[in-house]
Amino acid sequence: MRLSGNTVEPEFHRRVQAVVVGTGPGGSTVAKRLADAGLDVLMVEAGAYVPAREFSQNEGEMMRKLYREAGLRTTDNGAMAMLHGSVVGGSSVVNYLDCFRTPETLLFDWVKRFGLPELTPEKLRPRFEKIEEILHVRKLPVANLNLNNDLLRRGSEALGWKGDTFHRNAKDCYGSGFCDLGCSYNAKQSAAITFVPLATSQGATLLTDARVERVLLSGDRATGVEGTLVDEARQSRGRFRIDADLVVVSGGAIHTPYLLLGSGVDDPSGQLGRNFWTHPGTPVCGWYPGQRVANYEGIKQGWYIGEFSDVLNQNPIGALIEGIGAPPGITATIFPGLGLERQRQLQRYNEFTAAGILLRDSVPGRIGVGKGRPSIDWSLAPADAHRMKLAVARCAEAWLASGAAAVLTGHSRVTSIRSTAELAKLDDAGWASGEVALFCFHQMGTARMGHSPQVGVVSPTGRMWAYENLYVADSSLFPTASGVNPQLTIYALADVVADGILHEAAGSQLH
Ligand SMILES: Cc1cc2nc3c(=O)[nH]c(=O)nc-3n(C[C@H](O)[C@H](O)[C@H](O)COP(=O)(O)OP(=O)(O)OC[C@H]3O[C@@H](n4cnc5c(N)ncnc54)[C@H](O)[C@@H]3O)c2cc1C
Repeated sequence: MRLSGNTVEPEFHRRVQAVVVGTGPGGSTVAKRLADAGLDVLMVEAGAYVPAREFSQNEGEMMRKLYREAGLRTTDNGAMAMLHGSVVGGSSVVNYLDCFRTPETLLFDWVKRFGLPELTPEKLRPRFEKIEEILHVRKLPVANLNLNNDLLRRGSEALGWKGDTFHRNAKDCYGSGFCDLGCSYNAKQSAAITFVPLATSQGATLLTDARVERVLLSGDRATGVEGTLVDEARQSRGRFRIDADLVVVSGGAIHTPYLLLGSGVDDPSGQLGRNFWTHPGTPVCGWYPGQRVANYEGIKQGWYIGEFSDVLNQNPIGALIEGIGAPPGITATIFPGLGLERQRQLQRYNEFTAAGILLRDSVPGRIGVGKGRPSIDWSLAPADAHRMKLAVARCAEAWLASGAAAVLTGHSRVTSIRSTAELAKLDDAGWASGEVALFCFHQMGTARMGHSPQVGVVSPTGRMWAYENLYVADSSLFPTASGVNPQLTIYALADVVADGILHEAAGSQLH
């Protein structure tokens, strides 16, 4: 059953066995698993239910409808854009479909350092297989690369660098190129069209347009959640309260700690909201005069360079370089220069390729409770800025190797590189806050898993240490940054949490 805060009675009240806050990869996985086990589950989602027919492919409209703060959220210091979805399905609705299993070396590190025996590659393998089946994950054939991604492939192969096409959760994708504005063709197998309907088909209820503002607590138990019902304009139109035997918080790595901290939870670890990992990214664009690249056409993310990636801080760079297409609005914010200069560049938009750096950051930020919204305390550490510079240089080399006449970076001081000899320009390009465009698509780690409150905010089953029945299931659980696009890891960790809930809580405490 699907209910909307826009139409239910303005004083809405329900009692269920399990309430799940958020319907992204994390929340929807747990909701499905609990519903499969026969529990009476209610999912609460702050965003709206937006079916494929309403994805208009209009950038302004869709950014407002699908993204938190219309995609304009930044870190408190304004240094990095912080993009995440707020809609049924969460960011999986607007993401680029890249699917990586968690790197095995990283899993061994998590098992060893954080005491998480359920996360060995061997134990996670059947979970990944099951999830990939539901999400229809397949490897993209090279023949399906658009010109943008193919130029990145050609450049990196000419340099002898390791790279590959992505695995993607798509079915019958013909490459409309609007992944980040919602897939109008339902080719993207987001949580909104997989795990969420699988949960409702098993009897779970979905309440949309309902912002949870507080987890209700009594002693060592969570007793439910309460919050505001919103209308289409996201304005308050009433209140709701859900009483529940079990509370699962899956609001993503920013909103989960924000909600829990704001609810005054007891956190013996003292780490809730800390360890905020982000994979900072910056664009690097190649210019191919006279050639129509149209990086926004076709499958936007097809090829990645894995030569410099790393998950254990051993590679001096530690970044993936991923081909990416960007709609004009976002591109306009990336292109350097102002006024006429920027206008001239945008007129040649079709001649530019684009790739994004995905850096595995080494110094985390922190999420807290700001004035009516989360505070996001983060800045690019000098060591990470240095590694970012090295990654940008490698990406520039790849574009030059595939024939780019020049490479533009995302610096506010225009930085145009015409040959490898000019890579030294990057030293003076400016890497301080505000000098380079930074983007974050991946938020992780703010309620990390661990074997004890000394190392983790939640237990290896996702349970807040001080409570019998309060769980976290989303990207907050990551002990460290994944170093690869995180969605498959989130589905898998949420699946582990679901088992934990069914084992620990369901038998004894549900009425
Ligand atoms: C543009 C973009 C492209 C990306 N591309 C990729 C990619 O190609 N591959 C990949 O692996 N990853 C990608 N990601 C990241 C990936 O989609 C996210 O990491 C993942 O969706 C996070 O899952 P989650 O369950 O932790 O939270 P989310 O997906 O963020 O879901 C959380 C949900 O909870 C809701 N919520 C939050 N607080 C409340 C509250 N108080 N009350 C009610 N509801 C609440 C939110 O509205 C949201 O819908 C991308 C992300 C973006 C933004």
